[in-house]
Amino acid sequence: MWPRKRLDFGWMDISAVRLAFVFRWNRTRALNQLLNEWPADGHTVPAMSVRSGLHLILGQLDWPEGSEVLMSAMTIPDMARIVRHHGYVPVPVDLDLDTAAPTLESLKQATTQRTRGLIVAHLFGTRIDLSHILSFAAERDIAVLEDCAQAFVGPDWKGTPGCLASMFSFGTIKTSTALGGAMLTIRDPELAVATIQAHDNWPVQDRVSYGFRIARAVLTKILSYRPLFAVFRLCCRILRRDYDHTLNNFVRGFPGDDLIRQIERQPGTPLLVLLRRRIRRFDATHFARRVKLGERLRDTAHTTLGLLGHRGDNHTFWIFPILAQRPRELISRLRREGFDATRGESMEIVTAPEDRSDTAPVIRTAFDRIVYLPLYADMPEEVVDRLGRVVCEAESQNG
Ligand SMILES: *Cc1c(COP(=O)(O)O)cnc(C)c1O
Repeated sequence: MWPRKRLDFGWMDISAVRLAFVFRWNRTRALNQLLNEWPADGHTVPAMSVRSGLHLILGQLDWPEGSEVLMSAMTIPDMARIVRHHGYVPVPVDLDLDTAAPTLESLKQATTQRTRGLIVAHLFGTRIDLSHILSFAAERDIAVLEDCAQAFVGPDWKGTPGCLASMFSFGTIKTSTALGGAMLTIRDPELAVATIQAHDNWPVQDRVSYGFRIARAVLTKILSYRPLFAVFRLCCRILRRDYDHTLNNFVRGFPGDDLIRQIERQPGTPLLVLLRRRIRRFDATHFARRVKLGERLRDTAHTTLGLLGHRGDNHTFWIFPILAQRPRELISRLRREGFDATRGESMEIVTAPEDRSDTAPVIRTAFDRIVYLPLYADMPEEVVDRLGRVVCEAESQNG
């Protein structure tokens, strides 16, 4: 079976970070070396995660209590939780199913007198051209925060100028993962100073928990080699565990409650070291291969299948979502054919405020039909072609 995902790090990355655990490297030096790899149009703050970064930045913006923050409707649940934690109201913005970009129409509909911010997420590996959205926001004095967690394409692109901040994630399941970590670019000097000061007062992430994170990721990566993946599924069956659920839980960054306490941490030295390594040694060839496979699958499938975001700008196929007619049937069929597709549990649709009509009906309706196909650079082209054939055949029969 081809597992849903193979974590994007190499064994050499692990040996490199091991050294940082053994020798207590100087943190300031590690930080400066990392900053040298990321010259951006603004101030850079390496953070422990994008969630930490969002929490940090929102903490420095003194918008009135109850201010509204527009959000790309599909994102990870914690992002809306963090907005609520700061006393603001998340308002979902609908997405265009073809491009996965927020629609201007929905932005207009969702905006009120109380709107102060917009968190726009580049989803699935696409990168939205934000020019229309930025001019819309500028006219209404709305600050735009750019969530680039799924959109890292190497160190040459560091976000869209015009956004107040851009946030890149190096979390476990992301491109070029450092098993945590994020790079924030902040383009307002005053906000940057406040942010850096507040960040310096946070405790530093402890080595032990980062060590456990690495151990878990290593195990997950080992399981993604096909023979071992078979053993893993067998064990889950014996233990009567749903392997899908087990796997989804395994790579979750901050499990359990008490999110804010867990994310209020500065990155530790080993994480800074690994972040620098991942950015400095970004493997453009490996990455280009993923893009090529994604395009290949898209081109074979787009006439038969409902794809999600396939017409997005600059698509790099971090994940490959489709809109299935009957998701459960399709997933079982794919598993029988040797492909581990999943409905995923990591993203959700932001709930609309209670007193208001839903401003994201399109993506909310589509959401239950989403199935993620396995696709990564290590898959041979023939396998991707076979995946395309199997999905198209199954969907034409289900339709
Ligand atoms: C992964 C992800 C995040 C969170 O990134 P962390 O660095 O793990 O906090 C935020 N938004 C989106 C859309 C993501 O995919």
